[in-house]
Amino acid sequence: MHELSIAMNVAELAREHSRLHGDGRVSAVTLRIGRLSCVHEDSLRYSFELVTEGTPLAAARLRIIEVPIRIWCPTCEAERELPGIQRLACPECGHLSGEIRAGRELDLESIELAPETTP
Ligand SMILES: [Zn+2]
Repeated sequence: MHELSIAMNVAELAREHSRLHGDGRVSAVTLRIGRLSCVHEDSLRYSFELVTEGTPLAAARLRIIEVPIRIWCPTCEAERELPGIQRLACPECGHLSGEIRAGRELDLESIELAPETTP
């Protein structure tokens, strides 16, 4: 399962980040996921819950920023955003483009730590 291994990697990175910052509690993890990366968002959220359950990361929120697909259209000489992954063609002129400029991302955008609470 693709999403499970991603969730495990993300959880591991978040734990490491927390360790490097005095074992602070991770409050949120943000990922940037391109629509072409074939990551199923619901499945990733579920996997993340699964791998963080019972760990200090259990309270961490998973935020997902979906990155749309952008191609370069040589006919329009412009970058175009595609409405879906069905057809990699320029939505303006129909030119088929193989040059994908965005949409394959699978990046860890940020890891937020909860602010220290002093009683
Ligand atoms: Zn075009």
